[in-house]
Amino acid sequence: MTIEYRDDASFDAGIDVLIAGAGACGLAAALAASDAGAPALVLERDASPFGSTGMSYGAICAAGTSLQAAAGVNDAPRFLEEDILTTTQGLTDPALAGLIAREAAPTVEWLVARHDLTLSVETSWTGMGHRHPRLHAPDDRSGQTLMNMLQNAADRAGADIATNARVVRLIADSAHRILGVIVERPDGRTEEIGCGALILATCGFAANRDLVAANMPAVADARYYGHESNEGDGILWGQALGAATADMGSYQALGSLADPQAIVIPHTLLIGGGVQINKLGKRFENELENISGQALTILEQPDGVCWMVYDERLHRAALERFQEYRDAAAVGAPKTADSIEALAEACRLPADALLATLAEADRLAEEEARDAWGRVFRADQRLEAPYYAIRVTGALFHTQGGLVVNDEARVMTTDGEALPNLFAGGGAARSVSGPGEWGYLPGMGLCTAVTLGRLAGTAAAKQVLA
Ligand SMILES: Cc1cc2nc3c(=O)[nH]c(=O)nc-3n(C[C@H](O)[C@H](O)[C@H](O)COP(=O)(O)OP(=O)(O)OC[C@H]3O[C@@H](n4cnc5c(N)ncnc54)[C@H](O)[C@@H]3O)c2cc1C
Repeated sequence: MTIEYRDDASFDAGIDVLIAGAGACGLAAALAASDAGAPALVLERDASPFGSTGMSYGAICAAGTSLQAAAGVNDAPRFLEEDILTTTQGLTDPALAGLIAREAAPTVEWLVARHDLTLSVETSWTGMGHRHPRLHAPDDRSGQTLMNMLQNAADRAGADIATNARVVRLIADSAHRILGVIVERPDGRTEEIGCGALILATCGFAANRDLVAANMPAVADARYYGHESNEGDGILWGQALGAATADMGSYQALGSLADPQAIVIPHTLLIGGGVQINKLGKRFENELENISGQALTILEQPDGVCWMVYDERLHRAALERFQEYRDAAAVGAPKTADSIEALAEACRLPADALLATLAEADRLAEEEARDAWGRVFRADQRLEAPYYAIRVTGALFHTQGGLVVNDEARVMTTDGEALPNLFAGGGAARSVSGPGEWGYLPGMGLCTAVTLGRLAGTAAAKQVLA
């Protein structure tokens, strides 16, 4: 039983705005509720909040921010909206796409100006659906750093985070108004906490293999590289209350998980001129298209792996910017060689095939030509010795379908009505990635987490204080 129905709303402990899940969404919601003057409490099942946010690069897409302007990027929310609709081939909710595109920039500005987060624009990351550089991330491009900054901000704002507090059931009245929740502690003790409003920020369901198999069979057996807490709790509670869900087959996979080190390698190596090479020494796709679908194409290659091949220029740039790349280098994941023949030997690739493939890529770059898969190479990105290569594989990272929400992040029923006091955001809510694996725009997971989190926290506070 996920919902317990009662009429009695008296609890020993209670709070105005209760939030389940202390990731980017839950913490943004707590900040917004506190800003609006409502006491907020975040319940987190783990001993230390980390979640998918902690595993990420911390990169939030937003268009039209002052940070972009300062970096010389002339962008606007309407361009992000158009890019979402183009990438999803019009198969996402246009109202939600407009909302997210409009509200993302004010959300990033608010995190920086009001809550002292330090974010900068990753100017080397563009394309893959984004027409301009619009990823805003901590300076070390680390989700752990983003989590630290959000937790510090919550502390300053006076929002409490209770850890080792797993929400196991919701308590509701017959009108589906949430009265409170039941929390289970690691020793099995349970507690009840009452609330004026509840925000579901428990992320998606990629760790729930039954739900994955039912909704996205293509990755039912794929490796999962997301947080173990993504069991879909919030989505299941919402459904039990009559909430609508959408795009449940939508997900982000990624084809850049270092094998066997399991460290995410930045796509800037490809965006800057690198290529993917399979075990036959051949390219097999446009490396700059469909960041999420690449996991599937890589899994179709021999042994389900490929090599990202790049050069010293890209290696140095990644070392400068990405903490995870520094981690990968520290454990010796990138192989390096002074010639293509030596690289082939180091990677156990057929030298003739690798020589031919890289010669063709170099010709395309010299001529700034388009290849058979539609990739346009650039002359200023020709690869030069010494060369680098890192073996990667594809994995499921997180889901993008979930609870349908309105423009205040209120959870909607299948009849199109808002539930009385239930809100959702981040991985628990339906995103703007369309129905499958191909509509994901880089940075959208955290964009919808902080944006819907802010909208939910603001609206929940307004409701309880009215
Ligand atoms: C390796 C990796 C890299 C990524 N990189 C990026 C990136 O750079 N940019 C981007 O936009 N997206 C990225 N993503 C996706 C992004 O991390 C997620 O979309 C985003 O973190 C979702 O935020 P959230 O707050 O909804 O979920 P989370 O950050 O997962 O937070 C949910 C929290 O809820 C807690 N919880 C779950 N169930 C319960 C319960 N029953 N009771 C109490 N607590 C509960 C969890 O423990 C967790 O702390 C990446 C994902 C992965 C896996």
